[in-house]
Amino acid sequence: MLTNEKRSFIIASLEQQMSKKRLEHVLRVEQKALELASLYDVDITACQLAALLHDLAKEWTMEQYETVVKKFNLPNHMLQFGSEILHGPVASCVIDEMFDVNDERIQEAIACHTIGASQMDDVAKVLFVADYIEDGRVFDGVEIARELAKNSLEDVILYKLQQTIAYLAKKQLPIYPETIETYNTWIIKKEKMSEK
Ligand code: GDP
Ligand code: FE
Ligand code: FE
Repeated sequence: MLTNEKRSFIIASLEQQMSKKRLEHVLRVEQKALELASLYDVDITACQLAALLHDLAKEWTMEQYETVVKKFNLPNHMLQFGSEILHGPVASCVIDEMFDVNDERIQEAIACHTIGASQMDDVAKVLFVADYIEDGRVFDGVEIARELAKNSLEDVILYKLQQTIAYLAKKQLPIYPETIETYNTWIIKKEKMSEK
């Protein structure tokens, strides 16, 4: 667990950069991440930090994103995607200088928290699932996801990817190649598991 001092420092900073509503979401993700970390025996403090910092940059301006993309040499084409896709990768770049968080597992987890990744370590899995099923989420299927989370993080990850792609297609929104790629990797993994 984080010390009270470090946690309060982070929350005070978050208050400056996001709405009250989003901060409440972040605190619910923290709660859920702590629960999942203890259920699946994953590093508690790493999961807690990943949760607290994951949406750090969600309400930043395009200028702020541009500055980070340049400074950290992120692929320039990312700038065409907008905040939904950028906020994770951008946050993962700045948490070292802002909060002394240089644990690569945490940086990776935050970088991929919106679209997932073909390879995710335990901290990334916990964050991806916690963000999806935190107690404030009310979308169709959230109860199914919460049930799945009692037995397998991987099952929730695949469910989330399926649901997100279906939702985006229905809304006629663009689906990023990485989103499809991630889905393909996880569905093929699942097929292989069930063949055994
Ligand atoms: P939040 O930051 O807590 O709101 O949650 P996320 O970071 O997981 O998601 C941000 C948004 O990105 C959600 O509305 C997702 O539906 C959306 N999203 C995820 N993948 C894609 C994609 O491939 N294309 C588009 N257009 N949106 C996506
Ligand atoms: Fe997010
Ligand atoms: Fe979030």
